[in-house]
Amino acid sequence: MTRSLLSKTMKTDILPVNGESLKRAKEIILNGGTVAFPTETVYGLGANAFDGEAVEKIYKIKGRPQDNPLIVHVHSGYDISALVDEIPDYAKTLSKKFLPGPLTMIYKSKGKVSKAVSCGLDTLAIRIPSHNGAQEFLKFVNLPVCAPSANVSKHVSPVSAEHVYADLNGRIELILDGGKSEGGIESTVLDCTGEIPVILRSGLITREQIESTVGKCGVCDMKDGAPARSPGMKYKHYSPNCSTQLFSYGEMEKAVEEYAAQSAKGVRVYIMCDSETAEKTGVENILDLGSGESEIASNLYSKLREGEDVAQLIIAIAPEKQDGVMVGVMNRLTKACKSQ
Ligand code: AMP
Ligand code: MG
Repeated sequence: MTRSLLSKTMKTDILPVNGESLKRAKEIILNGGTVAFPTETVYGLGANAFDGEAVEKIYKIKGRPQDNPLIVHVHSGYDISALVDEIPDYAKTLSKKFLPGPLTMIYKSKGKVSKAVSCGLDTLAIRIPSHNGAQEFLKFVNLPVCAPSANVSKHVSPVSAEHVYADLNGRIELILDGGKSEGGIESTVLDCTGEIPVILRSGLITREQIESTVGKCGVCDMKDGAPARSPGMKYKHYSPNCSTQLFSYGEMEKAVEEYAAQSAKGVRVYIMCDSETAEKTGVENILDLGSGESEIASNLYSKLREGEDVAQLIIAIAPEKQDGVMVGVMNRLTKACKSQ
């Protein structure tokens, strides 16, 4: 990262979503700047997708790898056929059922947005968020807004305006505050360019839900030469600024032993797990993810951020349930706890 990237030069305002702040947001976007905005999954850092220089700013501000393409966000009334071609019938069915919502769909691009959005791929990822604040912002600017999560690259994604501020204070002008992002993990990314839809990134809309709507749904396995298909998935991601270890549910005892051994050495260690597991471990320092898959997903990033403030080491114990939304949670947890 260059020095200019790290220098903090501007004042960053946090404003609730209202007429005044939307006017300011639109002015920034039309002038080639970036604005952080709330969605139901995580906060996004948005720029005008038609403006190549503005798009480049996103990569610089975040320190994001140049080969990790961005998702374009539009409001629910936007005609996406202006941006993409070849929308298959299954994609229309899925759109009707799940949009607006936490599902990103990839189509053949018409090449109308800046090349920097898709990093040279001939496809475009489109998302229609359901969050009211996101819808208001996107309607007001009435442009395709490309946006990754509004955090420094590789750090934990932000689910509140305060999280965005902690990462990007001084690097962006405006954060629209729409409260906590209740979904808590990023959208499901679905490749809709083939015969059947294929999940490139798991999220809140599950494989089971897609299959029960359109019959078939593939999942891109990273071992299968997938990096070319889903460039973002190969990177370390979502990591707190402290050490981490991940244990499976079956290794709970081992995790508790490790907690005791590290505590005895004077390390500030916390166990992160769901409420039921927390009770079973009986340890004192807990980052409690709550109960049930929605709550666990919703709390994951807040607890990772809380953890990095209080702990030198977070020991995560995976949830017992491994299907549905937990596929997405496990994907984030595994990446957060990866050593590089
Ligand atoms: P982020 O915005 O950080 O949540 O990441 C966006 C995700 O969408 C990454 O995993 C990207 O690889 C993926 N993505 C965006 N556009 C495309 C595309 N055109 N083809 C494949 N994956 C994409
Ligand atoms: Mg991200």
